[in-house]
Amino acid sequence: MYAKYHIETTAWVLQRNFSPRALKQVIEANLAQDSIKDLFLSSDSYRHFCNDTITTGLDYVEEQHRLIEQLAGLSKEQVDKPTELAHRQRIALGRLLHTVQDFYSHTNYVDLWLREHHTEQTPIIDVIDGLDQALLTHYELRTAHWFALEILFHIPLIGALLRRIWLPPHSHEAMHLDSPERGLRFVYSMIMAQQRTAKEYQRAVKAIIRQGGSEALHCFHQEG
Ligand SMILES: [Zn+2]
Repeated sequence: MYAKYHIETTAWVLQRNFSPRALKQVIEANLAQDSIKDLFLSSDSYRHFCNDTITTGLDYVEEQHRLIEQLAGLSKEQVDKPTELAHRQRIALGRLLHTVQDFYSHTNYVDLWLREHHTEQTPIIDVIDGLDQALLTHYELRTAHWFALEILFHIPLIGALLRRIWLPPHSHEAMHLDSPERGLRFVYSMIMAQQRTAKEYQRAVKAIIRQGGSEALHCFHQEG
């Protein structure tokens, strides 16, 4: 998913609850997951659900949730600056949101959902479900594979030529739903990413209240 859409999705879900500065920190942590290095190295693919990383991607999301909960559980005596702690929680939230948002752009979840519902008409928001447990664990669920050669797709003329002679069906280029150029399936992926973002945010809120109460939640939402 391109940065613009990570920002839109995150802001759409969180802006009612976070102060503008706190939201900015979540978004910055989200966007920091996409680096130039990631284009060339596949070691961080799990942060983007690329290269067969369903399990490790989900493990990463769990790790960030655990961090949010652990930080909320620290007592005032253990923490010099509660605001610093809340900042770390917002970074963890931004990181995990990037990963779950990419899930719908870099896997075939949207295709599996469309097949299941026999439709590719105008999306009906009430019906779209990015949280279908059966599909999230479906045996046919797979990620896109990033090939180093794909960097050439970003060079205008060479990219167009390469696309004619070399486009493996499991490549990132063939599968991704990163931007509106991908058509209606992109709209589905965006709505599903919004639903998932809301779910992960609500999970973080529950964990923070459980461990640190409403005061910790207030710090989480408010910067400064
Ligand atoms: Zn990414």
